[in-house]
Amino acid sequence: MNPSIFALASAPGRAGVAVVRVSGPLAGPAIQALAGPLPAPRQAALRRLAYREVRIDQAVLLWFAGPESFTGEDVAEFHIHGGRAVREALFSALFDLGLRPAEPGEFSRRAVENGKLDLTRAEAIADLVDAETPAQLRQALRQHDGALADLYEGWRAALIAAVGRAEAAIDFSDDGVGEAEFAGARQAAEKIYQEIQRHMDDSGRGESLREGLRLTILGPPNAGKSSLINALARRSVAIVSETPGTTRDVVEARLDIAGYLLQVADTAGMRQSDEPIEAEGMRRALAHAASGMTLLLLDGSLEDPRAGLPSDLPAPDLTVWNKSDLGFERVGLSISLKTGAGMAELLKMLQQKVQHKLDSKDGAPPLTRPRHRHALQEAAAHLQHSLAASKEHPELLAEDLRLAMRAIGRITGQVDVEELLDFVFRDFCIGK
Ligand code: GDP
Repeated sequence: MNPSIFALASAPGRAGVAVVRVSGPLAGPAIQALAGPLPAPRQAALRRLAYREVRIDQAVLLWFAGPESFTGEDVAEFHIHGGRAVREALFSALFDLGLRPAEPGEFSRRAVENGKLDLTRAEAIADLVDAETPAQLRQALRQHDGALADLYEGWRAALIAAVGRAEAAIDFSDDGVGEAEFAGARQAAEKIYQEIQRHMDDSGRGESLREGLRLTILGPPNAGKSSLINALARRSVAIVSETPGTTRDVVEARLDIAGYLLQVADTAGMRQSDEPIEAEGMRRALAHAASGMTLLLLDGSLEDPRAGLPSDLPAPDLTVWNKSDLGFERVGLSISLKTGAGMAELLKMLQQKVQHKLDSKDGAPPLTRPRHRHALQEAAAHLQHSLAASKEHPELLAEDLRLAMRAIGRITGQVDVEELLDFVFRDFCIGK
C-alpha cells in the first residue's frame, strides 16, 4: 500500500488561506486525530484543529473517500489560515501521525497510477499551473479536457485493430481472406501515418504557444532595439523578466501580446565586425532568430539604413522604420520610440502575426510537447517501415504496427508506465 503523503497545495508564504492536501490510507485517521469524526464526503465542514490537546487552527475540511478523489486514494484537504506557524503545526502533527511530505508531482502521479488521469491530462495540469496568458490557459484546458488523449488513443485503437487484421493475414495466409486482411491493415497504417504527419507538420505551434513564441529584434546598432523592447514591455501586459547579460548578449523579456506569450529578445547590433565579442553577439542573435519570428528595426532617418547589415540576415517577418520624429518617408510601418508615434499600429501588427502563427487553422488540437513529438516520430517511422512489408510477410507488417502502437501508447501512458512516470513528473511542483 502506498504511504500516506501531505503537502501544501497552495503557494508558499503568507496568505489568507492555505490548502494542505493529504492522500493515502492515513487521510481519514488524520482527520479523526486532528478534527474529530469524518465529515460527509465532498462537503465542507468547519472544524477546530488540535493535536494532543494543542490547538492548531480553525479550518475548513474536505473529505474525499477513495476512489472518488483526485488521486483515487482517500484524500483530505485542510483549508487553514495561511500563516507559517499554522502550517508548521499542522505539518508536524501529520508527520507525527505517520504521514510523510509528498515528492514533487506525487499527487498527480498517483492519479495516473490509479487510472484517474492519463499522462497528457497530467501534463495539462502542469501547464494550467504554469499558464501566464489566456491562450496558454485555453490550450491547457483543452488538453485537460482530453483533446490530445482522445486523438492519440484514437490512433492507438485504430492500430490495435490493424494489428488484429495483420495477424489474421498471418493465420489465413493461404487464401483470399488473408489478402483482404493484409490490404486492410496496410490501408489503416497508411491512413494513420498520414494523419500523424499532418499533426506533426504544424511549425511547432502548440509548443510555441506553451513555451512562448520567440520574437527576435534584429537591426544595426543604434536603430533603437533596446528602446523598442522597453516600449513593448511597458505597453503590453508585461510579464517582464529580463535575462541579465551584457548589451552584446541576447536580452529577453516575456510579454503578453494579445493573450499570447511572446519571448522578445533584444540582440547585439548587426554589423560587420572583427571584434570577437561583438562577432559572438551577432552569432547568438542570428541563432536566436532561427526559431520564431523576427522583427528588423531600422533607423529610417539614415541615408542607408541597412548599411553594414550582414548579407545572410534572414528575411524578417516584420520590418519597422524607427525615428520618424526626425522626418522621413518610407514604405511600410514607421514609428518613433521617442514620441510613441506608430506604436499602436506596431502592436496591432504584432498581434496579427502572432495569431496567424499560433492559432489553429482547422481547430484540431495541437502538439504541445517535445515528448509527444518524439513518440509520434517514432510511431511514424515504424508505420513507414510497415508500409514496405510485402503480403508474403504479413508478420513484418504486424510487428511494425505493434511497435507504432506502443510508441503512441507511451504518450498517454498505456505502456512502460514506471519509466515514463519518472520522466513526466520530474518537473512538477510539490502539492500538485
Ligand atoms: P540599439 O543600439 O539598437 O539598442 O538602440 P537604442 O535603443 O540604444 O537607441 C539608440 C539611440 O537612438 C539612443 O540614443 C536613443 O535615444 C535613440 N533613439 C531611439 N529611438 C529613437 C527615436 O524614435 N527617435 C530618435 N530621435 N531617437 C531615438
